[in-house]
Amino acid sequence: MKKIAVIGAGQMGAGIAQVAAQAGLSVYLSDLSREIAEKGKAGIMRQLGKQVEKGKLEQGAVDAALANLLPVAGYADMADAELVIEAATEREDIKRQIFGEVGKILAPGAILASNTSSISITRLAQASADPSRFIGLHFFNPVPLMPLLEIIRGIATSDATAATAQAFGAAIGKQTIVAQDSPGFVVNRILLPLLNEAFFAVGEGLASIPDIDKGVKLGLGHPMGPLMLADMIGLDTLLNVLKVFQQDTGDPKYRPAPILLKYVEAGWLGRKTGRGFYDYSGPEPVPTR
Ligand code: NAD
Repeated sequence: MKKIAVIGAGQMGAGIAQVAAQAGLSVYLSDLSREIAEKGKAGIMRQLGKQVEKGKLEQGAVDAALANLLPVAGYADMADAELVIEAATEREDIKRQIFGEVGKILAPGAILASNTSSISITRLAQASADPSRFIGLHFFNPVPLMPLLEIIRGIATSDATAATAQAFGAAIGKQTIVAQDSPGFVVNRILLPLLNEAFFAVGEGLASIPDIDKGVKLGLGHPMGPLMLADMIGLDTLLNVLKVFQQDTGDPKYRPAPILLKYVEAGWLGRKTGRGFYDYSGPEPVPTR
C-alpha cells in the first residue's frame, strides 16, 4: 500500500495521518475545507517539531513525513487512495454522507474504513458503495503514542479487506487485534464496566478517590487509576457510551452509576471543565472527596 486518505483532520484524523506519513505512505488529508485540513497539517508539524527539540527525531525525518502529507478539499483529489479512513465527528448522519460521497470516487478494490468509537460498522457499511470493502479501524488517543489498532469486521466485511487492514496496521507500526462488530468492540467494552465499577465504589464510600486509583494502579499494574482516566476521557462521554451499551444490549449490567449521572448533571465533566473526581484548578489535581 502506498497511498491513503484521511477524512477529518481533528485530534484523531491528524494523529492517523501523522503515523501513516511517518511510515512513508502518501496521505491525503481532508476536512470540511482545505483550510481546516491545512490547520491539521500545521498541528502535525508542531508535534513533530517538539520531537526534534527533544532529540527524538531528526529534522530530515520530519521533512520527509511532511512531504507525504497533502491537504485536499473535497474527495475528487483522493481518487487514487487505496485506503480511505474516515475520522470525522462522531455523528452517524455526517459519516453516512461522507461514505456516500467517497463511494462515487473510490477506486475499484480500495477500502473504506471508519474510526468510529461507538457506531455499528455493519450499519455504517450500508452507506458505503460495497460493504465487503468496509471495515472499522479504531485507533487510540493519542494515535502516535498508543500502540494498538483495533480492527472491526462488519458482518459483510470480506477476508481480503480484513487482511489488507492487518497489513496496513503492521505497515504503520501498530499492533492489531480483530474484533467482531458489537457495542464498544473489545477495549471499550471492557474498559467501561471497569470505570463504572470505580464510580459505584466512590458512591458507596468503599475507599477514597486516591485510594481507588492507587489500588487499581499498583494492584493491577494500570498506568493510571480509573477515576483519573475517567476525568481525562470526559464523564459526559462515558455516560453516553454506557447508555448506548445499555440500550443496544438490553443488559442491566451497563447501568451507569448514580454518581456519574449526578456529576454530569452538575457539569462536573472531568478535566475539560476543571472538575470531575478531581479538582484541576490548582497546579496538581486534588481529590474532590
Ligand atoms: P475532532 O472533533 O477532534 O475531529 C473531527 C473532525 O471532523 C473536525 O476537524 C471536523 O471539522 C471534521 N468534520 C466534521 N464533519 C466533516 C465532514 N463532513 N467532512 C470532513 N470532515 C468533517 O474529533 P476526534 O476526537 O478526532 O474524533 C473523530 C472520530 O474518531 C470520531 O468518530 C470519534 O468517535 C473517533 N475516536 C475518537 C477517540 C478520542 O479519544 N477522541 C478515540 C477513538 C476514536
